[in-house]
Amino acid sequence: MYWNKEFETMPWLEVHNYWFKKLPSFIEYIKNNSEYYKKRLSSIEVSKIKTMEDMREIPFLTKNELREIQLHSDRKNPLGKIQAVKTEEIVQVISSSGTSGRPVYYGVTKKDVEVWKDAIATLYYTAGVRPDDIVAHTTGIPLFAGGEAYFAGIRNIGAMTVWPGNLSTSRMLETIRNLHCNVIQATVSFNLYLAERCQDALGVNPRELGITKIIGGGEPGLGEEAIRQKLKDAWKAETVREIMGLADVMPGMWGECEDETGMHFNAQKYVMVELIDTVSGEHLPWETGVIGELIYTNFSREATPVLRYRSADLIRVEGTSCACGRMSPKIRCIGRADDLLIFKAMNVYPSAIRDVVLKHFEKHLTGQMQVVKDHPQQVRFDRAIPVDIEFSSPENQPAGLKQQIEKIVRDTLNIRIDANLVPPNTIQRTQYKSPLIRVREQ
Ligand SMILES: [Zn+2]
Repeated sequence: MYWNKEFETMPWLEVHNYWFKKLPSFIEYIKNNSEYYKKRLSSIEVSKIKTMEDMREIPFLTKNELREIQLHSDRKNPLGKIQAVKTEEIVQVISSSGTSGRPVYYGVTKKDVEVWKDAIATLYYTAGVRPDDIVAHTTGIPLFAGGEAYFAGIRNIGAMTVWPGNLSTSRMLETIRNLHCNVIQATVSFNLYLAERCQDALGVNPRELGITKIIGGGEPGLGEEAIRQKLKDAWKAETVREIMGLADVMPGMWGECEDETGMHFNAQKYVMVELIDTVSGEHLPWETGVIGELIYTNFSREATPVLRYRSADLIRVEGTSCACGRMSPKIRCIGRADDLLIFKAMNVYPSAIRDVVLKHFEKHLTGQMQVVKDHPQQVRFDRAIPVDIEFSSPENQPAGLKQQIEKIVRDTLNIRIDANLVPPNTIQRTQYKSPLIRVREQ
């Protein structure tokens, strides 16, 4: 039932105790081995960090700070002053996707690779992958967190792992058919795209390919029932499970069990997680319904460790106990702290708009939509927020659909949108993520 029974079934409070046993030697390690941490943590007395309360003494680390640090790298320390081992010990580098500026790079040592193989196997096992599965791993970019690291985790379980890399969509679908894959691992938007393209590429309805398990993540979406159902129907799949991780910390950390009511934290053996209020920075309780930002410390990472790293991932706690016996909380990702939009005085996330629209009008839409900003930094909207929404076919548009969509969003979220209905395939699909926000071309 479990990949790592001891940790998965350990009561959440005991996991906290375990973390605080691990933390002192970790902080000593980074102070002694990374120039950056040596300076940053000079006033921290390691022996006094014993509880969550004490963690507040330690400053947060942000992606912007990491980006700054890496601007000053050189041949000796290619990953900048955060690098905590000699370059000769680093065996691989992965990067963030770089959608919001210069990518940040993370190194791994041989030991780090062993750690992520085990941690990522834990979450895929939780998400239902077994040795008798044939898994199509569709991430085309090995440098990204969802590339080689996911591959290593799935292979570690013993599943037959098929990694078509950056083959064209048709060749990828052909591979899936030829090798009888029954599991597809893909971002939500790419998975929908694969299903859309299947009939044209193979002359076969995706429902006939024998896909039983869908695993996806990398962007919010699988938390929305309408999208889960759409994927399930498109492939005639039995299960749809969400996973989540971060290149910055550990490529995979959260995985959804057979209960399909949220993702469990599966990396407790190697990573500490905190939940904070994204505005005040204060801790929040792991209680059902609480919304907060995740903060990570990867106390097992040798090459580029992070301490109190701000993920900017906003999550909602969905539950603290589960029929599957795992003891970690279950969550759904609801958006990025930096995707926040403000309409007059109301805060809203693009994923919340999509959630509401799909809930009511799913049968008329493809599921793809994008908020349109005038410039990349725009957060505030004084007039209705423009949203491109794809209808599924010209014949399938009831009269007044635009007005009905705008009304339901206004009634539910207290904000106004300007719904711009566009034909299918207008919104650009990408193999990695289809962003929920785009900037208007000038
Ligand atoms: Zn569970």
